[in-house]
Parts: sequence; structure tokens; C-alpha cells
Amino acid sequence: MYKQCHCGGMMNLSFRLVIFEGVLEIDRVPIYECELDCYHEVFPAIKADLKALLSSLKQQGKNGRIIFTEVNELAHLIFDIYRTWEQSESLSFEALLERKSGERINLLLDLYGCAKAMNDSGWMGDISNRLAQMSNIVKDRQFSEENQRFTY
Ligand SMILES: [Zn+2]
Repeated sequence: MYKQCHCGGMMNLSFRLVIFEGVLEIDRVPIYECELDCYHEVFPAIKADLKALLSSLKQQGKNGRIIFTEVNELAHLIFDIYRTWEQSESLSFEALLERKSGERINLLLDLYGCAKAMNDSGWMGDISNRLAQMSNIVKDRQFSEENQRFTY
């Protein structure tokens, strides 16, 4: 949940309504905000998916409001943990997110097996979409571990 800003302040995770070009509203986007208000950034592991969603909505000429946690598996999971996690818990927010992501990926893989056994290509497509969204958190973690190796 917490991360350090380049200014030395702490960054808190929150969910915000983001408006693009005045016509598209994406609600419940996970964003890290500096407590000193100097900087904010979209949760790194969902950045690419948010961009892809925006360009596809733009292409379809859509406007109005989309609830990001309803269309993105990872954002949904982050929101779930965000609502229930308390600082007093023994696991950090990140550790909990990592564990739940692993569980979620396993569940999706099981579902994919079912969909495949039933030869349901629509369902298979939907699940592999969700899996792709979830896999960003794993990739992101590996990336930040590599970064840390360079920092220390
Ligand atoms: Zn800052």
C-alpha cells in the first residue's frame, strides 16, 4: 500500500476517477499519490492495460463512464484487498497482493482447463484475457526485484 516518493514523502494507494479528453471517465483507477502532493502515478502493473483499454474505447468512439475494477481482473483484486486490508495485519499489502494474485492465477488456470474441456472458445478467450491482466503483477514484481539489485 505504501511506497516512497522521490521527494522522500510516502505515497498512498487510492482509487480515483480519471477523466480522459473530457469524454471518457474511468472510475476506480488505482493510483499512488504522494502525501506531499508532489507526484502521483497509476499503479505500475495496470498502466499498460489502462492504456490499451483507453485506445480501444477511443477507437470504438465510446464515451461515458467505465468502472475499471469491473473490466480489469488485477484492478478488481487490488480493490478487494484495499478495502479489507488493515495496517495491523501481519502481511503487508504487497505480500497479500502477491499471495492473492498467485491464488487467482491458479483459479483462472483451472477455469481455463474447464473451458477447454468444454470446447467453449468464447469462455477460453475471456479467461486468457484475465490471465494476461493478472500476469502483469508477476512481471512487474520481477522487474522491481531487478531494479532493487541495481539500487543496493
Ligand atoms: Zn513526493
